[in-house]
Amino acid sequence: MLDVGRHPNIELLAYSDVEKVEGQEGDFTVTVRRKRRYVEEDKCTGCGACAEKCPSMVPDAFDEGLGSRSAVYSYFAQGIPSTHTIDADYCRQLQGKKCGICKKICQADAINFEQEDRIISLNVGAIIIAVGYDIFDPSQIPEYRFRELPNVVTAMEFERLLSASGPTHGHLDRPSDRAVVAEIEALKKKAKRSQKTLDRFEKKHDQASADVYEKYRQGQYQDDEDRKKWAEQYAAHLEILEPLEALQKKAEGFSVAKRLAFIQCVGSRDFRFYPFCSGYCCMHSIKEAIIAHEHGPETTSTIFGMDIRAVSKGFEEYKIRGGKNSNITYVRGRVSEIMEGTDHNPVVIYEDTQQRQVKEEAFDMVILATACAPVKGINELAKTFGVELDEYNFIKTSSLSPVDSSVPGIFVCGCAESPMDVPESVAQASSAAERAAEIAIQLKSEEEKAVA
Ligand SMILES: Cc1cc2nc3c(=O)[nH]c(=O)nc-3n(C[C@H](O)[C@H](O)[C@H](O)COP(=O)(O)OP(=O)(O)OC[C@H]3O[C@@H](n4cnc5c(N)ncnc54)[C@H](O)[C@@H]3O)c2cc1C
Ligand code: SF4
Ligand code: SF4
Repeated sequence: MLDVGRHPNIELLAYSDVEKVEGQEGDFTVTVRRKRRYVEEDKCTGCGACAEKCPSMVPDAFDEGLGSRSAVYSYFAQGIPSTHTIDADYCRQLQGKKCGICKKICQADAINFEQEDRIISLNVGAIIIAVGYDIFDPSQIPEYRFRELPNVVTAMEFERLLSASGPTHGHLDRPSDRAVVAEIEALKKKAKRSQKTLDRFEKKHDQASADVYEKYRQGQYQDDEDRKKWAEQYAAHLEILEPLEALQKKAEGFSVAKRLAFIQCVGSRDFRFYPFCSGYCCMHSIKEAIIAHEHGPETTSTIFGMDIRAVSKGFEEYKIRGGKNSNITYVRGRVSEIMEGTDHNPVVIYEDTQQRQVKEEAFDMVILATACAPVKGINELAKTFGVELDEYNFIKTSSLSPVDSSVPGIFVCGCAESPMDVPESVAQASSAAERAAEIAIQLKSEEEKAVA
């Protein structure tokens, strides 16, 4: 990625939308909207001082909403260009309130609330579409109770929980436990504010709050408005402390998730959704189980699948190694339902097809290996580029030229074409680049001939 940013022959137009494509192979005119970031890209040094001070917090899409970021943000730490962007929907200043803290703090003077979108036009010989994929939304499968049960997560969410730069710094804290910890933090803040009010009363009257409260309950201070208010404030304070103490006690018993279940083919190989195999999910579940075991050697994982498709050089060996060294058990069976057991433990109901038995087992966390779905907005994108889509809404190519779209000069690679893993996507990207280079070389030689 860094190489792309530095390459003299590559102009990177991030945070931009293609609005119109006209012309034909060798001579396309592409209209691009460079969306306003409210931050000048060439001035921003990516220091992050603005994000540190911004008071407006928003769920972080890069962390799958499991963490939060500020309204001025960089999508992820290694992003190129390393500039920041203001999220206008959440920025106080852009929502008409008073703020501007980021502008005051930015030493590079990069914040520009008056910035507008810019429309630019590019003349290119060939186009490569590499818009990737989206994650199938598992809430379409009601029996898996995604979002209903806190400890049922997607594989992508699990990746963020496993990541050292993620919302839990790589600790497998269960979402149900994280919700309790967040509640404790909110109650602590409330208790602190309420304690301040009590402190003011105590200072003013040189008396303890508990003493005033007790005497008030016994019928004293009926004509003393100040002490009446004080006693009521103390009662409200106790109402905060009681659940706070109960939750703190509960949190003492929390530990990281140790019993993991991975459910394969969620939306894939399922005629209700996508009949195809998404190709990469068997391997990413094994990878995630191995990494989880590296984080905590006592971690056990059960991978439920119709079969494990470890189809590439070294993949079968990796699967076996996972079983031998990383406490992974492979169960051949389709999971029919996930229920909630005690302590928010998801209980997996499944048929073990090898033993021909319906079984159930409780886990600390269940991870859904979701299908590779066409990227959102693919229909509009296909219209803009004039390319055809296949029956599943990936960009159509011919089986003999798997990077050629239906329009000459427009190529496609990676999951925009069909589900595939990173090495395959990279190989296809090289192939698409080579097809595009053929056109560029031909144009150059025609130009040279015309000059000669
Ligand atoms: C949980 C999980 C774990 C995985 N782990 C692995 C793994 O360990 N190894 C492996 O090989 N594969 C893994 N994969 C698969 C891997 O994610 C894909 O193979 C790979 O991302 C495909 O690359 P791509 O460039 O085609 O698409 P993407 O990675 O999706 O990239 C597409 C890019 O295009 C951008 N984009 C989308 N629409 C537009 C638009 N209209 N205009 C401009 N830009 C747009 C997107 O923002 C994105 O940056 C995993 C997948 C999942 C779901
Ligand atoms: S002006 Fe907006 S982006 Fe800047 S600090 Fe305030 S809320 Fe955050
Ligand atoms: S790769 Fe595995 S989990 Fe993914 S769809 Fe294919 S069989 Fe199912």
